[in-house]
Amino acid sequence: MRIRVDEIPEAGRTLRLQWDDSHLAPYVPEDDPFQLKLVGPIQVELELQKLPDHLRIRGAVKGRLGLSCHRCLSRFEWLLDEPVDVFLFPEEQAPGEEETELDVEELDYDFFDGEVIEIDQLIAEQIFLALPFKVLCGEDCRGLCPRCGVNLNEEPCRCAAGDAKSPFAALLKIKERLPEAAGE
Ligand SMILES: [Zn+2]
Ligand SMILES: [Zn+2]
Repeated sequence: MRIRVDEIPEAGRTLRLQWDDSHLAPYVPEDDPFQLKLVGPIQVELELQKLPDHLRIRGAVKGRLGLSCHRCLSRFEWLLDEPVDVFLFPEEQAPGEEETELDVEELDYDFFDGEVIEIDQLIAEQIFLALPFKVLCGEDCRGLCPRCGVNLNEEPCRCAAGDAKSPFAALLKIKERLPEAAGE
């Protein structure tokens, strides 16, 4: 979705959108470490406000995201509930070198061509910004065994036990050779 600035009334404009995977897809990088997919449509509510030399876009993006756990790679759902407050400046007003000391870091700001706002791009950016650097399926995710690749949340791995240094190694080897316990 694109919105022309001259189509925004002086009083501002409210956008309420159901935003789905087809909108997101063009903005997901091929090597996306999150493997982000939307579980359902994202609820977008944005207030577009025209100010003397820039635009302010405020609101929220809410929904459920499907992500891959950084440690164990399994899929899980992550609740997105992110406030949006972006200042959009026309490109020609991009701060120059001498102005970079401006306190802009505290501000979520972006630039546009001064005429058309790429709303879909803005929403996609807000979603990715909301994600932590590393997402985990749970605080206590045990990840994968680096040797055999077993998901340690789902099953124990025998690598460590089979290690020659382990005092249990020999015992386990014997146990493995025994027939399954009868009458289970
Ligand atoms: Zn995990
Ligand atoms: Zn293992």
